[in-house]
Amino acid sequence: LEKNFHMRKGQLIERGSSCPLCRSSSSFVVGTKDRHNRPLTNLLCVGCGLYRVDPLPEEDVLREYYRKQYRLDYKGVLRPRPHHVIRAGRTARDRIHWLLPYLPETRDRSAVDSHSQPGPSARIPRSGRWLDVGAGSGEFAFLVRRKGLDVIALEPNHGYGEYVRRSLKVTVFCGFLEDLPHAEGPFDGISCFHMLEHHPSPIDALMRMSSHLHQGGLLALEVPNAAFALTHPSSRFHPAHLVHFTLSTLEMAARAAGFVPLELRTSADGGILWAVLVKTQDRTPVPVPLPVLPGAGNARLRAESRRSPVRYYGNPRIWLRTFRRVKALLAERWEAQAFLSPESYLAGLDLPE
Ligand SMILES: [Zn+2]
Repeated sequence: LEKNFHMRKGQLIERGSSCPLCRSSSSFVVGTKDRHNRPLTNLLCVGCGLYRVDPLPEEDVLREYYRKQYRLDYKGVLRPRPHHVIRAGRTARDRIHWLLPYLPETRDRSAVDSHSQPGPSARIPRSGRWLDVGAGSGEFAFLVRRKGLDVIALEPNHGYGEYVRRSLKVTVFCGFLEDLPHAEGPFDGISCFHMLEHHPSPIDALMRMSSHLHQGGLLALEVPNAAFALTHPSSRFHPAHLVHFTLSTLEMAARAAGFVPLELRTSADGGILWAVLVKTQDRTPVPVPLPVLPGAGNARLRAESRRSPVRYYGNPRIWLRTFRRVKALLAERWEAQAFLSPESYLAGLDLPE
């Protein structure tokens, strides 16, 4: 692993860095460039099938990097453009639809048996407190509060944090999850959309979230799906995405951190993984397979070798997707003409009962 430029795609590395999920040090090279054509090595773990950047940055180095980046960010109040609020608001509404059966206030409290054992079947919260990790411009936090929950939006960017606090009047904690005092919780639910893939140790990140949850509390996750076929081969690897999950590796990480999946699936188009997890007491150790016996990684490697620009552009679903995106973009611009304020727009969005 001394010289990354010696690596080629499909190459098997037997004694490299170890996988943050199963600790196996056998991996295949699946990428040597990032989406901007700069050198970046991505490995596929032979043992479990988790993708990872190599070398993975140390957590404290990475934390300093992000802190510095966020300090450079605008210190006042950001003003997202109307079409941004419209798009993010619709995405947030779709997430409410998805999570509604799990949200604390929508559960049947009459069915609670106070003597029942804690576990996936007894996941009735004591109250309705929710934490949205990486809240961004706050649309989801705003809508989840409309469903009657007491919400804290956690956002490290000060510009966005001020905007969410002032314009949406949502309670904001400005900082990273490790800065959040445990006295703020515990929470009945945490949402974390598109953040876990930025962390070098998914199990640690999940356990940190778990530490802010009640026993039986929920964690709603969204991450990109590494197995998604409709990604252009040269735009596969975002430099900030340190690990890439499939359904099975996301489940392994969740169980290793003491969560049990209530729901684990891909989005309708297959591009995103959705997980609703419940905090339990048991942690399931990730099995470490024999390094010389290719397992889950081998099947993924075959799928990787089938990716090509010709296959990509030859797929009619790509063109259908492009058409739908343009249509959505035009609808957003059209709707933006009648836009009054982020708060009034989000307050007026139709939410499921
Ligand atoms: Zn692994």
